[in-house]
Amino acid sequence: MTELRAITPHAAIPAEQATRDSRQRRLLRLFLPEMIQLERLLAEAPDLISTSVVDRVGLKDLALPIYRADLGSDRPDAPVILLVGGVHGLERIGSQVVLAWLGSALARLRWDDSFRQLLERVRITVLPILNPGGMYLNQRSNPNGVDLMRNAPITAQDRSAFLLGGQRLSPRLPWYTGDPEQGMEAENQALESVIRELLPGRPFSLALDCHSGFGWQDQIWFPYAYRRRPMRRIASVMALKLIWEQAYPNHDYQFEPQSRHYLTHGDLWDYFYKQINRDNAGVFLPLTLEMGSWRWIRKRPRQLLRLQGFFNPLVPHRHKRVLRTHLTWIDFLMHAAASHENWLPAREEESMLREAAIMHWYRDQP
Ligand SMILES: [Zn+2]
Repeated sequence: MTELRAITPHAAIPAEQATRDSRQRRLLRLFLPEMIQLERLLAEAPDLISTSVVDRVGLKDLALPIYRADLGSDRPDAPVILLVGGVHGLERIGSQVVLAWLGSALARLRWDDSFRQLLERVRITVLPILNPGGMYLNQRSNPNGVDLMRNAPITAQDRSAFLLGGQRLSPRLPWYTGDPEQGMEAENQALESVIRELLPGRPFSLALDCHSGFGWQDQIWFPYAYRRRPMRRIASVMALKLIWEQAYPNHDYQFEPQSRHYLTHGDLWDYFYKQINRDNAGVFLPLTLEMGSWRWIRKRPRQLLRLQGFFNPLVPHRHKRVLRTHLTWIDFLMHAAASHENWLPAREEESMLREAAIMHWYRDQP
């Protein structure tokens, strides 16, 4: 178990909690209970996990930390899974899914030898609440009114969806991209610093960014969002989809390039995909889990009366089902990353899978 050691002492987290006065703690319990849950998990975590604060977001007299937790192999060539939640502050269920996975992983680390052995072959880096200010304020954007998912320096090549595709008119309207001249927002720079430190040189890495609020079905989106043409690593996405569907035929995620739904400016994962794959011989696949919240509304139309209800399952049994459903998918991704050599397409399979991907996703594209 020599590889599974802490990189920084996790005792830093209770200190963070201790510096808050009782009013701040009360506010957090009320408006950001996910942060309390995360800090509790990290404070009680075994030594095999390392935690740090990547940055802090100021909001009135609060300095809300962006936490990072790392588990697993610290070999520089180990495959990586990067789990991200809470990019959009309203979509709390995304953070809750990441926290559910983290809680489960920390519990299993205490006794599960097979899980520990898996972690010797793969590294998991978790950023459960990337936009703590937005989540505290219960809004999609960060406290500056910027939609973090429209804020990267990348421009749609074709006509993007009006407003939804990203707009520069006003932070008072949704989907505000921010001011490209000012650089990315602090939350995105925090994520970029983690990605730049963590991913280059890896043979295989994968990000899963958890969102909700679009469609009837749970969807796995992959780049691009800025143009309709397929990405270079499309054969690897097709291979991943095939091994998932063969192993778990009773789950139904719909895999699609985001461009099938709408084009956007400033997509974070398009930007990171291009950055990392450009200088890297390995494969980096950024995936977005879009949990289909329209089903939750159909079953309970009263949910529409509450803004939360658009993006989060409010009925307890449905909430629990959402939290457990995606654990299987995240565990699958860990195993797929650890054994990537067994399914990533070799050169001769690559062109066949690419053809299949184009037939499947791009045949009817202009
Ligand atoms: Zn979202």
